[in-house]
Amino acid sequence: MSRHPETIREVVEHGLCIGCGLCEAIGPGRWKMAMTDEGRLRPAPIASEDPAADAEILSACPGAVTEAVAEGAHSDQIWGSYTHMSEAWAGDTDTRFRAATGGVLSALGVHLLKTEQAKFVLHCAADPEHPVRSRWFMSETPKEVVARAQSRYGPSDTLAGLEIALGRGEPFAIIAKPCDAGAIRARTKDDPRIDQLVVAVLVMVCGGASDLGKSWNLLREFGVSEEEVSVFRYRGFGNPGLTRVETEDGKAFEKTYLDLWADESGWRIQSRCKICPDAIGEAADIAALDIWPGGAPAGEDAGFNGIITRNDRGQALMQSAFGAGDLVLGQRHSPRDYDDFQPHQVSKKRAVAARLRGLSAAGYPVFRHCGLRLDELDAKSDKDEQGAQDRAESGRFAEQMPKAKF
Ligand SMILES: Cc1cc2nc3c(=O)[nH]c(=O)nc-3n(C[C@H](O)[C@H](O)[C@H](O)COP(=O)(O)OP(=O)(O)OC[C@H]3O[C@@H](n4cnc5c(N)ncnc54)[C@H](O)[C@@H]3O)c2cc1C
Ligand code: SF4
Ligand code: SF4
Repeated sequence: MSRHPETIREVVEHGLCIGCGLCEAIGPGRWKMAMTDEGRLRPAPIASEDPAADAEILSACPGAVTEAVAEGAHSDQIWGSYTHMSEAWAGDTDTRFRAATGGVLSALGVHLLKTEQAKFVLHCAADPEHPVRSRWFMSETPKEVVARAQSRYGPSDTLAGLEIALGRGEPFAIIAKPCDAGAIRARTKDDPRIDQLVVAVLVMVCGGASDLGKSWNLLREFGVSEEEVSVFRYRGFGNPGLTRVETEDGKAFEKTYLDLWADESGWRIQSRCKICPDAIGEAADIAALDIWPGGAPAGEDAGFNGIITRNDRGQALMQSAFGAGDLVLGQRHSPRDYDDFQPHQVSKKRAVAARLRGLSAAGYPVFRHCGLRLDELDAKSDKDEQGAQDRAESGRFAEQMPKAKF
């Protein structure tokens, strides 16, 4: 019998927090996002904890609840509800080049601004003061959206900006992770401003967010301290492009994408990602992804995304961007193509139910889930179940609540 977390502390201490930032947005007088010693963004209490007040955070927190509603024209057991799946890339060559893959997410954000459907885009990018870290921004011009393209493989707390974005009372789009999209959807039930003001929720398909320890290890390998870094780019400027670190005194270091991800033991993927029930963006309007056959790049190319529209709103946005030339659409895809492009997503979808059982057997709370087909997809792997139980019992899922640093 599974139980569910009842406080923010329980979420964090049981490895269920992904550091989305919603705690700070909804309870700014109680929580502030802080970087832990391990390099994870977590909510630090800045006042005495108040579970009654935090109930509204918990009702949208990805560590406590996760759900998707089928709104697309088709449905697939693995890939969920969708209306359209195809190749896509940005119509603007520079955006396509600078972006993580083919620039679909940036091109859609740019299109919404150009057509005045949105006044700004809430998303994240490198923190100019600490370029190894990421922070949220409200990009108001196409130029800003494109300058803040590319994937940040470390922690990101985009939703820490949600309340400030909503407070502007202007239409806006959000580009974020699938777990963030789930939180926005859940929050919509308690905050009607989201339906009124958020014109699109766009996500990347997500293999997991490393803690910042992965980036610190890379700096160590290059012999560079975090304070010296002026640029930290994980990919982009090509597809996938090189990981590139530049220092204030003009040195530069590079690594290929395949070298960066060669040793899985060094990925430092956060615990919530290992049990992620929706890493494929079922709660978003549109999801964009890499479409490398077999799941890994065979070399550099001009940048080709997959695009999945999840509902009428996502479909209309894709068509509007295509019609304006901001987005190019290529060959159609099927869910089985996506199995080939994303084998790790298929195995994770099938493993999550067993891992949740393992955590429950260890006495850990787990999130509620709905509409994500986890039970139907359950591969009933004893190895996954036992592995999760062992991990929890040995304390490897446990985390410390951070103290706020000012
Ligand atoms: C942590 C992580 C894991 C990923 N795993 C996979 C995977 O398993 N399979 C796959 O196909 N693709 C994965 N990607 C997505 C892939 O790297 C591309 O982001 C995706 O194909 C979209 O490309 P694009 O060119 O359209 O994005 P761009 O046009 O470059 O736009 C990227 C947008 O994403 C936002 N963003 C970047 N990093 C983050 C972050 N950490 N959190 C929130 N928002 C962010 C930026 O603000 C920007 O607006 C992952 C990305 C991330 C960040
Ligand atoms: S996942 Fe988000 S809402 Fe939940 S505890 Fe972490 S920061 Fe707060
Ligand atoms: S794997 Fe899931 S929990 Fe982890 S960052 Fe991606 S969407 Fe969020």
